[in-house]
Amino acid sequence: MAIDFGTVNTVVYVRGRGIVLNEPSVVAIETVAGQHRVRAVGSDAKLMMGKTPGNIRAIRPMRDGVIADLDVAEQMLKHFIGKAHGGRSRLPRRPEVVLCVPSGSTTVERRAIRDAASNAGAARVWLIEEPMSAAIGADLPVIEPVGAMVVDIGGGTTEVAVLSLRGLAYSASVRVGGDKMDEAIAASIRRRHNLMIGEATAERIKHEIGSATRPTGDGRTIRIKGRDLVAGVPTEIGTTEAEVAEAIAEPVGQILGAVLQALENTPPELAADIVDRGIVVTGGGALLGGIDEAMARATGLPVRIAPEALTCVAKGAGRALEDPDYRAVLLAA
Ligand code: ADP
Ligand code: MG
Repeated sequence: MAIDFGTVNTVVYVRGRGIVLNEPSVVAIETVAGQHRVRAVGSDAKLMMGKTPGNIRAIRPMRDGVIADLDVAEQMLKHFIGKAHGGRSRLPRRPEVVLCVPSGSTTVERRAIRDAASNAGAARVWLIEEPMSAAIGADLPVIEPVGAMVVDIGGGTTEVAVLSLRGLAYSASVRVGGDKMDEAIAASIRRRHNLMIGEATAERIKHEIGSATRPTGDGRTIRIKGRDLVAGVPTEIGTTEAEVAEAIAEPVGQILGAVLQALENTPPELAADIVDRGIVVTGGGALLGGIDEAMARATGLPVRIAPEALTCVAKGAGRALEDPDYRAVLLAA
């Protein structure tokens, strides 16, 4: 099985079955009489975010692509591995697991995720660098002597990499992704409309009218609910596509900046391949309206959004496990 344990979503691929699970990386922990226990994991836990009573906390154990809360991360992995196998009883005796790790993660961070997987029941753990699995999942020619560029925009980080001959010729990770966009939207709504909104609402606004390019005029408008900061009561306002585009312009600009920097640092022969073949974008951020257009404009290169951008990394990691041609990209943990 291959697991893309992302800051926002966890995606699991099982040999012979494909993607079997895609759920938010969220755990709801309930504290009763000083004892902590897992109340819900994944989609069920996400529904509780921002709405939990004092004794329940909805936790995202991954931050910036690495484990921030080891205990909770382990419980979450255990739950997802069990669920991917359709209940604990059918868990294979010695499951082999490939875990995706950010290319910029440290040895200590990699060890933490490996230990979490071992404790969760994995017998043999492999690691794969996320840009590599993203590229394999997007069908880029990573085993040939041809340069390919992949940009994976996740919740916590954006990874930019140039690959060739089963290796990363260049990789960089910036701590900017969908989360920063959500924060920027919430801050902008607070400033412009005196309205307090939660993370989930900010994310919904981004999904519905978020765009990396500015519309002509105000663009579309949607109604949103939150708490009025002055009157202190729940209220509803309208926000526009133009307002949201302006709010997220900074994080989007940082992502484009990372792509330009990668291009500057790419060896010339590989750069020539990228000019011909363009850039492929994966991760949930690839679904942001107009990101391909904004990236094409900033770089002057063709930009393509990977099909199934959200599950591409897990699919690529699964393929690396199954296909002998790709096996060499797996790193022993
Ligand atoms: P991670 O690998 O960090 O778990 P994902 O690749 O799953 O992240 O992407 C999650 C991010 O993508 C979230 O910030 C989410 O809001 C964002 N996202 C998902 N769909 C869309 C969309 N349609 N428009 C903009 N952002 C989106
Ligand atoms: Mg990811």
